[in-house]
Amino acid sequence: MSAIEQTAALQFPALQPPRRYLFGPGPSMVHPRVYEALSKPIVGHLDPYFIQVMGDVQQLLKTAYGTTDGATLVISGTGSAGMEASVANFVEPGSKLAVFANGYFSDRLTDMAKRQGANVVRLEKAWGETFTEDEAAEFIQREKPAVVAYVHAETSTGALQRGGAICAAAHDAGALVIADCVTSLGGVPVEFDKTGIDVAYSCTQKGLSCPPGLSPMAMSQRAMEFLRARTTPSRSWYLDLKLIHDYSTVSHRYHHTAPISMFYALREALIVITEEGIENRWERHRRSHRSFVKGIEAMGLRMHVPEEHRIATLNTVCVPEGVDEAKVRKHLLDEPGIEIAGGFGPLAGKVFRIGVMGPLATEENVQFFLKEFKKALTAGGYSV
Ligand SMILES: *Cc1c(COP(=O)(O)O)cnc(C)c1O
Repeated sequence: MSAIEQTAALQFPALQPPRRYLFGPGPSMVHPRVYEALSKPIVGHLDPYFIQVMGDVQQLLKTAYGTTDGATLVISGTGSAGMEASVANFVEPGSKLAVFANGYFSDRLTDMAKRQGANVVRLEKAWGETFTEDEAAEFIQREKPAVVAYVHAETSTGALQRGGAICAAAHDAGALVIADCVTSLGGVPVEFDKTGIDVAYSCTQKGLSCPPGLSPMAMSQRAMEFLRARTTPSRSWYLDLKLIHDYSTVSHRYHHTAPISMFYALREALIVITEEGIENRWERHRRSHRSFVKGIEAMGLRMHVPEEHRIATLNTVCVPEGVDEAKVRKHLLDEPGIEIAGGFGPLAGKVFRIGVMGPLATEENVQFFLKEFKKALTAGGYSV
């Protein structure tokens, strides 16, 4: 080894990431088979083998999303890229977008739509609350928007917004519906067709137990028709869904170089889910969630969201009086190597955000977490 090489080896030792239990809102634990898929040899993005992989992913996504009529495709970018693609393709400059605003990600949607030149109207609620069927219908009837957007599982608050009434009212008004399913897909039922969603986007690193990097989307026939009929091009070239749909499902002509390894990973993650059975997977997450909540309440702690509106995979636990939540999180990370998240925005310092998803959603892992959480809380000044 030369002197320069030796110095480099000292300054940049081989990667050795710490072992973490990812009990946060994401990224979540990656299945060993998915890691294996990531190490497979690269082929070209126009290679017939890769085209087949893309086709498999689209087919597997239909099961995960719960759609037979819809088109599925994958955006090369994280969940926010799917959000931006949805907005840039379905919200035209000057058109009216109605947003159900009850957390951080509906604010991000609002910001993106304003940048696209949309006329955004919002129905607002406190972080952690949800909208009733009547409130949803009344808002849409009053505003008569071209597009409606809601966040199915609001990761900043732990609240689940059911979409059936929103979609029904939107369709009565002739509007398309965009649903943010970033945290829900793969962990809790999305049921794209049954709910009546027109455009859904998600990510790979939360409910699908895959690393971050892709955004799987689904679009209804109605949404596809809108795209075909749209006369002005989307302002985003990279996220133009007409071009991406053509590349990934029709002509397979070059649009961009798809991240091959991530598609391998997503394909494997979706096969793992299909083998378990999507409904069994939802049930496993529900069981783990019930067990988690039981343990939390037994410690004298409270959940932030009322029982019937909780996301099974992402729990918001109220920080008890007098406890320094940052200290608790640091203790968990330093000692057992557990990552959880704190609240932010209006919930800063008020909640812990704890994900119980994918491989971690088992009774054994829930009990392991609860035991360590109790120790960390005690260290943070709480008497259980
Ligand atoms: C994580 C998240 C996003 C953003 O996804 P990224 O992969 O971080 O870009 C959007 N919406 C919700 C509800 C999320 O939880």
